[in-house]
Amino acid sequence: MTESRPPRHAGDAPRTGLGYRSVLAGALLLAAVFGGALALDDPRVKHLLDVRIGPGNQQAKPREGGNPSGDAGAPQPAEARVGTPPPGHEEADSPLGTPVPPAVGSDSYRFLAVNGDGSPVGYSPCRPLHYVVNADLAPAGSEQLVPDAIATISAATGISFIYDGTTGEQPSPQRPPYQPDAYGERWAPLLIAWTTPEVAPQLAGKVIGTGGSTHFSYDGGPKTFVTGGLDLDAPQMANELLNPDGHLYATAVILHELSHVMGLDHVEDPRQLMYPEIGTPEGLSAGDLNGLYELGKAQCRKDL
Ligand SMILES: [Zn+2]
Repeated sequence: MTESRPPRHAGDAPRTGLGYRSVLAGALLLAAVFGGALALDDPRVKHLLDVRIGPGNQQAKPREGGNPSGDAGAPQPAEARVGTPPPGHEEADSPLGTPVPPAVGSDSYRFLAVNGDGSPVGYSPCRPLHYVVNADLAPAGSEQLVPDAIATISAATGISFIYDGTTGEQPSPQRPPYQPDAYGERWAPLLIAWTTPEVAPQLAGKVIGTGGSTHFSYDGGPKTFVTGGLDLDAPQMANELLNPDGHLYATAVILHELSHVMGLDHVEDPRQLMYPEIGTPEGLSAGDLNGLYELGKAQCRKDL
């Protein structure tokens, strides 16, 4: 999520620390994360970029009445699942792309979610990540922002993105991760929506955008993101784009949110784009790039 924030004055504390962490931790146990803060610390741009993991901490459920085969905990046959596509759609035997190794080492990154073995939760690099854009309210001059940011994130992670075109789908915190009628028998594509606070209440007030992904696992097994959402407050972004360097800020917002979608959390290092407050939006820094590189090593998942 991205919020514009009230003007800072002396004594204002950055919106980081326990407040944010507790929101995130709590939300991971519930349905969705709406909280957090990343400020574009520019005297003109007062935005907070927040993170969302949603719509849920999805897990496969055993078939009603139990599993006749008795292998409780094992992945269910596709036909036994409710609300999940046939597994392995477009999943290759090896990663589709190769992430660009970061030029500079840095451990200044954090993951939104990790598995029991400490590995970060990311998307399978062995299948493309499809995305759709609800561009009904896309501001003039924004046409290249999303594709350019996608290309940057793809290079950093090695994840292959496929643009499936525009959609009329509206963002929703309860967005089903599987929508066969709309998108066929696969996980729903990442939804990038130019929208408004009226449609997306999490954009109310100073919020300018939200971003996050939904992870899926079988009964305590490793989690993998299967779909996500990135909502942009179109009126606020349009206003931003009126400025001569507005595209730089807009790009920073989208890159920050896409990094949340991929699995990065905020850091306390002000040199990183994932810092809760940034000065000039210089794009991804060494920590961000190293984190995204690690996310590109996520497990391949023919079982999802
Ligand atoms: Zn953020």
